[in-house]
Amino acid sequence: MITQFKNKWLLFNQASRCILCELNPANATQLCHSCLTDLPWISHACLRCGIPLNTRDPSPLMCPSCQKKPPPFEQAIAPFEYRFPVDQLIQLAKFSNQSHYLNPLAELLCSHILSLGIATQMPELIIPVPMHRKRLLERQYNQAALLGRQVAKKLHIPFNTKLVIKTSDTPHQADLDRKARQKNLRNSFQCSQKPPSSVAVIDDVMTTGTTAAEISRALKRAGCQKVYIWTIAHTAKQLHLR
Ligand SMILES: [Zn+2]
Ligand SMILES: [Zn+2]
Repeated sequence: MITQFKNKWLLFNQASRCILCELNPANATQLCHSCLTDLPWISHACLRCGIPLNTRDPSPLMCPSCQKKPPPFEQAIAPFEYRFPVDQLIQLAKFSNQSHYLNPLAELLCSHILSLGIATQMPELIIPVPMHRKRLLERQYNQAALLGRQVAKKLHIPFNTKLVIKTSDTPHQADLDRKARQKNLRNSFQCSQKPPSSVAVIDDVMTTGTTAAEISRALKRAGCQKVYIWTIAHTAKQLHLR
């Protein structure tokens, strides 16, 4: 009886502690105020591709690359740079079967989306970056789909994992440079049905934007008009603008 009570007490206390410092009481995001403040928040980002910009100019800006050649999606957003401790949480969720680490990240992504207000128009549908079925069998779950389901539920937007499918099992993008990534992924995504006019694609991390661009092209070929890319983090190093 006493052991049972003690276990419940421990569980209750663990649940209310910050998952990062394990010391301070946590809020709804499962983090404490000071760990939340210390996260690698992106303060300025390119209006279009979401790359972090190192600038003091508070007005909305587009990075030189988007000015030269805009990507095929309307807007990519990410609350964080892909560095400690966000990278660790994502890696744990992805490879160590600890998908519960996605919960606080989904919560923070939703508040970031909502904080952008009217600048981000809400899409009609949320989809995850799909995995090829062979990889899905290996990994057993698609972390982008787990994340997408949570975000869709919190924002009351329909969710679909079957709209876009990955038709070829391409090598891991992480081992390739930008040109090779583009070649690797060309035409590897397809729409299985007609998409609505606006869709948000969810992933954990955006790196060069090649995957986001390929999925956007597939959606637009099938008739979608607006594609938004929502990720937890952006890997790109800050672009220094004057
Ligand atoms: Zn903490
Ligand atoms: Zn840009």
